[in-house]
Amino acid sequence: MPQKHRPGCQLPALQLRPGREKSVLQRHPWIFSGAIAAWPDRLDDGGLAAVVAADGRHVGYAYVNRRCSIAARLVAFGDTDPHTAIRNSLQRAVALRQTLFDARRTTALRLVNGEGDGLPGLIVDRYADVLVCQISTLGMERLKSFLLEVLVELVQPRAVYEKSDVAARYEEGLTDAAGLLYGQDFGPLVILENGLRFHVDVKRGQKTGFFLDQRDMRALMETLVGGRRVLNGFAYTGGFSVYARRGGAARVVSVDSSGGALRLAQGNHALNGFPSVPEDFVEADMFAYLREIASGLFDVIILDPPSFARKKDDVVRAGRAYKDLNRLALTKVAPGGLVLTCSCSHFVDDKLFGQIVFQAAYEAGRNVRILHRHRQALDHPISVFHPEGGYLKSLLLSVD
Ligand code: SAH
Repeated sequence: MPQKHRPGCQLPALQLRPGREKSVLQRHPWIFSGAIAAWPDRLDDGGLAAVVAADGRHVGYAYVNRRCSIAARLVAFGDTDPHTAIRNSLQRAVALRQTLFDARRTTALRLVNGEGDGLPGLIVDRYADVLVCQISTLGMERLKSFLLEVLVELVQPRAVYEKSDVAARYEEGLTDAAGLLYGQDFGPLVILENGLRFHVDVKRGQKTGFFLDQRDMRALMETLVGGRRVLNGFAYTGGFSVYARRGGAARVVSVDSSGGALRLAQGNHALNGFPSVPEDFVEADMFAYLREIASGLFDVIILDPPSFARKKDDVVRAGRAYKDLNRLALTKVAPGGLVLTCSCSHFVDDKLFGQIVFQAAYEAGRNVRILHRHRQALDHPISVFHPEGGYLKSLLLSVD
């Protein structure tokens, strides 16, 4: 990799329009195409460039892609050469996680959370001794072998697998990519989360295989469900359900539209020694399921749907879907019950989500109070300089 040894100062310079260096100096990693005054001649899309202010002052290093509205993303602020900065960011990311988890109880974690770890376009999840990477930009794609080399050195995994299947890749001029990047091939894995065991099927599962961002909410719900009847909507492989079982729930029903996910959910019950009653795993559309059940059948309802708004244009339609879903749950939950409602859509922000829940509660005719607000788990840091990195929001509601 000749690039690795190329000192940053020899990179082509990308000049910003006057005043547009401000957000870079404030450590925001995105540069929109409108902020760029001049593109250097010798710079391919995906390549690295030095970023300079209109007055020629050097402000950092970024990789570029002219076809995207976010035309450059910074990997280094200030003078540190980009490869050293990336190595430092990876090192910091790994070191942070070592302080967050007891490895005897939790072996699945997000090791790299994109911009939140100073590495735009890169997600790395760790499942026991296997790493799963998701690359969403051309710039990171070009840096792949360097990233791999550093990750292997820092973590010494048994295998590194790529699962890059996000829509953003198409805007970048990339297509989906999946496959082994390093080490020995592997099958379904078993991970530990807070002492519970879960099967993770990296290759066939959704996202990188497990929804790590909800770890803290699963743990909180475990403490609240003792003796109560729990409906886990959008259950996937039964994360919340297994925690609810350990929390002593009287009954746990898992609903998901994917039969494959529910089979894994049943397997995860067995893996932890909990009985899995087949009728408590329901393959159904959660909206239809909620419409059909009697009121008061469940004391706790969990709503953790996939993103209903994948693009900005989807927001109005998504808002209606979130509202309907919440209205149904708030109508059906037993008096004195709890509803945990979540949205993982970037485009539905805290304020809008609050308004949606307000309207749903009003239409349900129930008195609803917020007990807890939560974002993503500790291993999904958000840079204060890049609030766009927050996507998940959850409200724990008490329903009179
Ligand atoms: N709460 C889970 C993650 C949920 S992911 C956990 O902690 O692991 C979202 C899930 O919703 C996926 O499993 C998907 O199959 C399911 N899903 C999507 N649309 C659905 C619908 N309309 N009704 C029921 N499940 C749906």
